[in-house]
Amino acid sequence: MPNTNAYAAPAAKAPLAPFAFDRRAPGDHDVSISIKFCGICHTDIHQVRDEWGAGKYPMVPGHEIAGVVTSVGPKVTRFIPGDHVGVGCFVDSCRTCPDCRNGLEQYCTVKTVFTYASTDNSGQPTQGGYSDKIVVDENYVLRVPDSLPLNGSAPLLCAGITLYSPLKHWKAGPGRKVGIIGLGGLGHMGVKIAHAMGAEVSVFSQSLKKKEDSKRLGAGELYATSDPSTFEKLKNHFDLIVNTVPAASNWDQFAGLLATDGALVMVGVPDNQVPVDGFKLIARRRTIAGSMIGGIAETQEMLDFCGRHNIASDIEVIPIQQVNEAYERVLKSDVRYRFVIDCATLGQS
Ligand code: NAP
Ligand code: ZN
Ligand code: ZN
Repeated sequence: MPNTNAYAAPAAKAPLAPFAFDRRAPGDHDVSISIKFCGICHTDIHQVRDEWGAGKYPMVPGHEIAGVVTSVGPKVTRFIPGDHVGVGCFVDSCRTCPDCRNGLEQYCTVKTVFTYASTDNSGQPTQGGYSDKIVVDENYVLRVPDSLPLNGSAPLLCAGITLYSPLKHWKAGPGRKVGIIGLGGLGHMGVKIAHAMGAEVSVFSQSLKKKEDSKRLGAGELYATSDPSTFEKLKNHFDLIVNTVPAASNWDQFAGLLATDGALVMVGVPDNQVPVDGFKLIARRRTIAGSMIGGIAETQEMLDFCGRHNIASDIEVIPIQQVNEAYERVLKSDVRYRFVIDCATLGQS
């Protein structure tokens, strides 16, 4: 009998279905984790549908993992059974390149081992968190603050750090005006975190439907991108705009909303090129940039920040058996604001 129950996409674009496989035997430095909850990130949908051409099947998606330590290898020093822990988008890296040494393991120049759709350093395929257990080297395991609920913490491991990292890098804080494009899983974490950092936060959404929610989450204003006057009245206004939209965007119009030295940062993965009029950048020393998740130390810093500020994700918990319907709802922006799988339902019919 395989030791792990999961749901996997058997082939590109196929619906997820029950799947069982063996996790590796824990080594000296490994932590064995009973997965309690796993968030559904839009990346899981891109990967299952092979939209980036990097899919490996069968694929067990999931990189917003929250669980409880069940056992530790003899050389593990930082965790003991019973600890609340998280695993995010990667589970290993080379550990020696300049990026790894600078705590930027997500940009490892040799090889970041992603939590799924990747291969580990022994050549085995990695499988993610839509499963009931995982074995991870302690250096890539995060501590979840006891003050936070485990289910609402799961999305911090990807959505939370993906917004925390650029917000910190581009200095969101008091006196700074921050815009978040797209109020989904990533976007709603961006609003909560930027607000807690002390910035003045605005949301850009396709319509005004999420206006009340955006205020509750900490935004001062929500603007509809369908309304052309949005782009007239906010010219030169923002110090930082983070775009979470998983599709094409009117980049050139958003670039025009940046103040001098402002940055427009993509974290959502666009499905086409990013055209911007060069004069828009030159005339105000504006920047267009990208950002990917965050390193291990920064992810721990984000979790501790969220623990201090009592920030978790707004979630809808589902049994694994509803995962395919949940994907369809994510694609329609019909979730407020993150689906989280109750992994106790794995292995049930
Ligand atoms: P999500 O929950 O689906 O949220 C995306 C939001 O974007 C939606 O709620 C919607 O907000 C808006 N939106 C959706 N489709 C749109 C369209 N066609 N045009 C305009 N706006 C649209 O997705 P997510 O999990 O937050 O992920 C967002 C993107 O980030 C994905 O591409 C994912 O792969 C990527 N991602 C990147 C990183 C990284 O490290 N850079 C990490 C995680 C995820 P409104 O209803 O408010 O318009
Ligand atoms: Zn993700
Ligand atoms: Zn490296």
